[in-house]
Amino acid sequence: MNPFSYVRANTVAEALREHGGDPQSRYLGGGTNLVDLMRYGVERPERLIDVTQLPLARIEPLPGGGLRIGSLVKNSDLAADARVVRSYPVLAEALLQGASPQLRNMATTGGNLLQRTRCYYFYDTAFTCNKRRPGDGCSAIDGQNRIHAILGQSNSCIATHPSDMAVALAALDAVVQVEGPRGARSIPLTEFHRLPGDTPNVDTNLQNGELITAVDLPPASFAARSHYIKVRDRASYAFALVSAAVALDASGGTVRAARIALGGVAHKPWRAIAAENALAGLPAGEASFRRAADVALSEARGYEHNAFKIELAKRTIVRAFLEVNERPG
Ligand code: SF4
Repeated sequence: MNPFSYVRANTVAEALREHGGDPQSRYLGGGTNLVDLMRYGVERPERLIDVTQLPLARIEPLPGGGLRIGSLVKNSDLAADARVVRSYPVLAEALLQGASPQLRNMATTGGNLLQRTRCYYFYDTAFTCNKRRPGDGCSAIDGQNRIHAILGQSNSCIATHPSDMAVALAALDAVVQVEGPRGARSIPLTEFHRLPGDTPNVDTNLQNGELITAVDLPPASFAARSHYIKVRDRASYAFALVSAAVALDASGGTVRAARIALGGVAHKPWRAIAAENALAGLPAGEASFRRAADVALSEARGYEHNAFKIELAKRTIVRAFLEVNERPG
């Protein structure tokens, strides 16, 4: 562990001031990923700004409908919120399949979005990793890559984003609210995380010093008929090999609109817009869901150990739609 200074902020303005846009500073929320990264020597911040006392732990209705989730709302509290369970079941389901009960009691909404990849080479400083040290090389491309990306990857990095919650939020068109040295701004969830390109060390489009204050869910519309399926190596406390968040708006047996987002397949939650469009207007049944799944994975590329994910992702999409289609509209 490297030496670092610690300060606790009581207001958002104080947190921003204490951070000061210093690239060696980090905001500390639940700490469930950052503290591990510091122990491994992957993250070496010189200054931690504890934001756990900021007034950002409420879930409130938005004026035009929808919900504002404070960035310090714990994953367990969000999963148990009656409004989320009723109107955004895909989000509650995704949260309850993430991590463990103990971790969900600590992890925050903002921190969940900012957690870093679980690529084993990223955490092991004995291996080269472009995400840890740009230009060093990627140990996963020709190494053990069973858990790695099949969509949106680059020659620099094939890591995946580990969050379940963020996949559901991508399907729901959530919006991330941030405050920073230059004021407040909104970032659509689908634009919050980045593909690796040639800068895999940069995970998100947050500017230096910006703090997540909330995540907004738009009015529920057909989100009440939504579902999350996670496929993993064991039934709990494991990251997704593949996951699918879907929502279905069908009438008279015909799909009016659909949402599809995938987890465990890319450097960011992967929204499959072309597949959603392909599904609109088709009969709500297995053949249509399979056609949409084929579109969603049409550009997928596997590596030595993870090519199985392509068919697995298609089957996960189909199963998620079949199950949600059984629910009352
Ligand atoms: Fe590092 Fe990304 Fe390669 Fe993993 S996949 S070793 S995180 S560069």
